[in-house]
Amino acid sequence: MDFTFTDHERALSKRGRDFFEQVLEPLEVVTDEHGELPDAERAPLRQKVRDWGLAGINLDKDHGGMGLSMVEQTLIEEQLGRVTNGLWSAVWRAPVSLKFGTDRQIEEYLIPSAGGERRGCFAITEPGAGSDPRQVQTRADFRDGHWRLNGEKWFVTSYNASDFIIVHAHVDGDPDKPTLFLVDKPDYYTAPPNTTHSRSPKFMHNFAYDHAELVFNDTPVPADKMLGEVGQGFELTKDWFVEARLQIASHALGAATRAAEIANAYATERRQFGRAIRDFQAIEFMLADMAVELYAAKSMLFRVAAEIDSGADRSLIHSHASALKLHSSEVAGRVVDKALQILGGRGYMRENPVERLYRDIRVDRIWEGTSEIQRNVVGGRLRKMGMSLYSDVA
Ligand SMILES: Cc1cc2nc3c(=O)[nH]c(=O)nc-3n(C[C@H](O)[C@H](O)[C@H](O)COP(=O)(O)OP(=O)(O)OC[C@H]3O[C@@H](n4cnc5c(N)ncnc54)[C@H](O)[C@@H]3O)c2cc1C
Repeated sequence: MDFTFTDHERALSKRGRDFFEQVLEPLEVVTDEHGELPDAERAPLRQKVRDWGLAGINLDKDHGGMGLSMVEQTLIEEQLGRVTNGLWSAVWRAPVSLKFGTDRQIEEYLIPSAGGERRGCFAITEPGAGSDPRQVQTRADFRDGHWRLNGEKWFVTSYNASDFIIVHAHVDGDPDKPTLFLVDKPDYYTAPPNTTHSRSPKFMHNFAYDHAELVFNDTPVPADKMLGEVGQGFELTKDWFVEARLQIASHALGAATRAAEIANAYATERRQFGRAIRDFQAIEFMLADMAVELYAAKSMLFRVAAEIDSGADRSLIHSHASALKLHSSEVAGRVVDKALQILGGRGYMRENPVERLYRDIRVDRIWEGTSEIQRNVVGGRLRKMGMSLYSDVA
């Protein structure tokens, strides 16, 4: 068993780290103070992603992407996760569901998404439908040669950085017909016809882009903008959820590693009662627990990434990705909380990255399936498959 990374893999990780230090980190405070990434920074940042060879991080070369394995993507994403204010999302990931599109949809949406000429956001959640997407009320009805969307969507992340929305709706209002639709925006800031962008509320974190609320009021969607078949809505987003869960785990652990490094350095430098605070066992034990939790969670992260690369069974990957998302988001919460405690009052100051990381990583236990939903997935798999799904070595 070889756990060492190749020179190529180390170089990718370094590229992610350098991009964080040289491009993203300088934008952290301005993004936090402004509430999101200022408009003037958006186009130059998009260009830097291309210049640094980070465009199309999750796409094959055939689709204009970098052609990376999941381990390679994870090495980069982990480093991007060090940044605060969701600035990692400047390195866009094209929605992989588009791979299941028609040739024309691939040409029109997926390939331009690799280069960042286009960007899509996902609209599934609604006021009455969160963890239980069968409660979605947004419906799609086919009339006069067009689909017509009616309903309301919440928490649409990066709406103001996107020029199309992938909307999850129930055809004929039937929850057995969950279906995806590609809805074009005229530009980043203008809503599609017959659609209202009601607001983009503020959240605990200050994120690079917004989380919009949208109302569709007979929004017309051309017949050829349905993605996949009627009823395939969940099937087509399954792979996206696996990818998103790995990405969250990578970012959460990158964030927690940065906080742990800051706390570890501070514990040597800060002196109270005539000695470095790390000489108090209370502090040293916190640092030890942080290191051990990170070591275990990162081992799990790269194991799941390697399973994906080895072509492991799809349902095994789903089960392990849920366990990984649950564990790593909770580890990150504990590690960043301890880091802040070690920093004392300085850790509570907004100018300190650990304060921002503390606010940022809380959502990792909520979005893309809450911790409770991940436990439901793991528990459900145990009922069907038994403990060996998680306890066997291969
Ligand atoms: C910042 C942010 C960005 C987001 N971005 C997007 C996006 O881009 N697109 C999108 O579609 N959505 C997005 N979401 C929505 C996100 O996916 C949902 O918030 C999440 O799925 C939970 O749904 P909910 O908030 O409605 O909570 P609910 O489902 O109402 O859950 C409330 C509580 O009940 C618990 N619970 C619910 N069901 C069960 C159960 N069966 N067993 C045990 N406990 C349960 C939950 O774990 C939670 O603790 C985003 C959310 C946030 C906060």
